[in-house]
Amino acid sequence: MNKQFDQIIVGGGVIGCSIAYQLVKRGYRVLIIERNQVGCEASSAAAGMLGAQGEFAEDSPLFQFAQESRALFQDLSEELREEAGIDIQYRHKGIMKLAFHQQQYNKLKTVAAFQREADNAAYLLSVEEARKMEPSLTDNLRAILYLPNDGQVSARHLTKAFCLAACHHGAILHEQEKVSELLMEAGKVYGVRTTEATYYAGQVIVATGAFGDELLPADYSTIPVKGECLLLELEQELFQSTLWMDGCYLVPKQGKKVIVGASSIPGKTDKHVHAASVQKLLARAQKMVPQLAEARIRNHWAGVRPGTADEMPYLGEIPDIAGLYAAKGHYRNGILLSPITGIYMADLLENKPISPLYNDCFRASRQANKLEKAGESK
Ligand SMILES: Cc1cc2nc3c(=O)[nH]c(=O)nc-3n(C[C@H](O)[C@H](O)[C@H](O)COP(=O)(O)OP(=O)(O)OC[C@H]3O[C@@H](n4cnc5c(N)ncnc54)[C@H](O)[C@@H]3O)c2cc1C
Repeated sequence: MNKQFDQIIVGGGVIGCSIAYQLVKRGYRVLIIERNQVGCEASSAAAGMLGAQGEFAEDSPLFQFAQESRALFQDLSEELREEAGIDIQYRHKGIMKLAFHQQQYNKLKTVAAFQREADNAAYLLSVEEARKMEPSLTDNLRAILYLPNDGQVSARHLTKAFCLAACHHGAILHEQEKVSELLMEAGKVYGVRTTEATYYAGQVIVATGAFGDELLPADYSTIPVKGECLLLELEQELFQSTLWMDGCYLVPKQGKKVIVGASSIPGKTDKHVHAASVQKLLARAQKMVPQLAEARIRNHWAGVRPGTADEMPYLGEIPDIAGLYAAKGHYRNGILLSPITGIYMADLLENKPISPLYNDCFRASRQANKLEKAGESK
């Protein structure tokens, strides 16, 4: 068995698989090691929204990163169809954010103004205008913010497609194998030890989502945020856009299905779906689309988002350990951010010039630096 690689990627979620895909396309020998099965954690629990606008109410480097990533999906869906034979179910039907009262409407107006300033399409619609587009929406609304350029994919299909496409280009995948230790000497990483064997590479990327924190220094810790979802099945398609209110979203899927998401429970990593969460999600779902009362519940699940203190991912080389990289902490937007993360990490690993803005914001020491600066200014 080959044990020598250019890069070893720890974790077969959407982030690890996207990085693997970019690296093999550039001619490297890549090993992906997944402790269970590809996409078994957050990457298949996700609703698949590409909320590059919907998720952001103010400017930040992450907002720019998200915009760049969303722009890659159209071509990526074609590319992955060819390379992996998988349809990632990219749909480009926009997101509607619903306001039920004046306070929510005021918030949406601020978001709309920010989005327009950033040169993005964002329309405030009256209830009548919105119901012309989506007749199943409740009429008990104050107003709607329509973001036509936010889309969605099937998160599970996207993860699988990245992985298959990477393997098609020569990546090696080991499932049911856990990385237990990183091998380091004289300030350099040279491989990993797993439950099965030892493998060698000059570059190791830890892409373990909300897990595997023990492999990296404490600065790179993630905050697990559990999310519960439901899958509903309808007699007929009721709406095309993703619908969103405080505490709930509805993402229409192929086959007259709708994902209803999601609870948000910090500090929990269990996969139970609680009755109280189901009750809240269903009540909010019916508040948006009353006809959903007739839908059948087909499935329910929970996943764990890899959160960080400032909600930005850690992307970069670990100081003082040459060749060891982190790519984790994508919190609520890992599906959206996966294409750009793959490219960004491959550029970093190749020592290509990268945006100093992203470099500053995504390295783990940003938090220590911020605290230090805050201390100095006191
Ligand atoms: C309910 C819910 C809804 C969401 N909705 C959206 C959405 O609509 N849009 C969006 O963009 N994002 C969404 N997200 C967020 C998104 O799912 C995550 O940000 C993304 O999947 C993180 O990907 P990842 O590869 O970093 O982590 P994961 O998918 O968790 O993958 C990490 C992998 O590493 C493996 N691993 C861990 N430790 C080891 C080890 N020691 N050795 C080997 N393997 C190991 C794990 O088994 C796992 O498969 C949602 C998340 C949840 C939970």
